[in-house]
Amino acid sequence: MRNLKKKDLQIYNLIKEERKRRQDGLEMIPSENHTFPEALEPLSSILNDKYAEGYPGKRYYGGNEIIDKIEILCQERAQKVFNVPYVNVQPYSGSPANQSVYFALLNLRDKVMGMDLSAGGHLTHGWKVNFSGKYYNSVSYGVDKGSNRIDYDQVAKIAKKEKPKMIWAGATAYSRIINWKKFKEIADSVDAYLCADIAHIAGLVIAGVHPSPVPYVDVITTTTHKTLRGPRGGLVMVTKKGIKKDPKLPSKINKAIIPGLQGGPHEHQIAGIAVALKEAAKPSFKIYGYQVVKNAKALAETLKKENFSIVTGGTDNHLLLIDLRNKEVTGQEAQDLLDKSGITVNKNAIPFDPNPPFNPSGIRLGTPAITTRGMKEKEMHMIGNWISQTIKERDVRACNRIKKEVKSLCNKFLIP
Ligand SMILES: *Cc1c(COP(=O)(O)O)cnc(C)c1O
Repeated sequence: MRNLKKKDLQIYNLIKEERKRRQDGLEMIPSENHTFPEALEPLSSILNDKYAEGYPGKRYYGGNEIIDKIEILCQERAQKVFNVPYVNVQPYSGSPANQSVYFALLNLRDKVMGMDLSAGGHLTHGWKVNFSGKYYNSVSYGVDKGSNRIDYDQVAKIAKKEKPKMIWAGATAYSRIINWKKFKEIADSVDAYLCADIAHIAGLVIAGVHPSPVPYVDVITTTTHKTLRGPRGGLVMVTKKGIKKDPKLPSKINKAIIPGLQGGPHEHQIAGIAVALKEAAKPSFKIYGYQVVKNAKALAETLKKENFSIVTGGTDNHLLLIDLRNKEVTGQEAQDLLDKSGITVNKNAIPFDPNPPFNPSGIRLGTPAITTRGMKEKEMHMIGNWISQTIKERDVRACNRIKKEVKSLCNKFLIP
């Protein structure tokens, strides 16, 4: 960042400060990660400068013969790692990717069904104040009150009654395997499109530690910056099953993205995603995904020993949701305390949360970023104990003491 340092020391220094914050602390927000450094480099390249509205071979601007090669490489790599026949790599992020699916498959006010935000779903799956709940007729399913897991019989019942045209499977705060096959049976029974949103678990799906939705769903969306470790971005894929159901699906998605929703694609971002996908195809990424899950399970075990209540009793993936009510601390208070100890988490609603969304009863913890740094079960045990002490002792002195210990662990596990 030589030029930046010379011309804008303020921004340069703030980036340096943020880098130090990330190096000295534990990043445990499950949607975050440390991007492959080689996948960040294209973001600051001259690819940023090019307009390439359209698709490879059919652009509205000249001078795109090299850009076309980059976008095609990204498409091919995504098709290969996810095992799908079609992918659109242009969505600016996960939410625009989901928007394009609505725009491609539905008419305004059509009925869509998704997981309730308060049960762990995403805003774009039909939440009232999101476009998906304002411009579409949205109905939701939740989790079972006893087990806090998706109740597939209940999902089937709601689908039968409501007859949605499209169903979302996928979540943002759900720690268990998603049963794609059950969702397929439900979608088939009401002749609905089935879309898997694997924004959180894409890296786990590639690594083979979460079942792939490919054989069961019509469309798949994902982000590229969570467990996948790429630059921020989004992908929309259509499966063989989806193409068989409606051969026009790929062209409908293409048209929904441009001219429907977006203008010029961010080709520097697409190049960075291509680089991340190359990394994700390597055997080392399978080992990474496997360790992410092992770490989450190890963290859950330590926290359970410390009498934390883990929603669903544990985890199958990269995240844990903790119900803090027995600890007599709110999600916000826990988040603030842990920040002081150098552990970054986010407050989160728990299923059937008696408290309002801005002051929920839980926190959400994830292992993707700390696993990227090379941490394993032994470190999870240490981290679980620090989390417990922070919440037990609840004072600045304890937080300062823990922060020093966190920092000394972090010194042994550099961020990329
Ligand atoms: C993060 C997420 C998104 C949205 O991604 P952005 O890049 O933040 O727009 C969509 N769906 C799910 C399930 C997510 O977790």
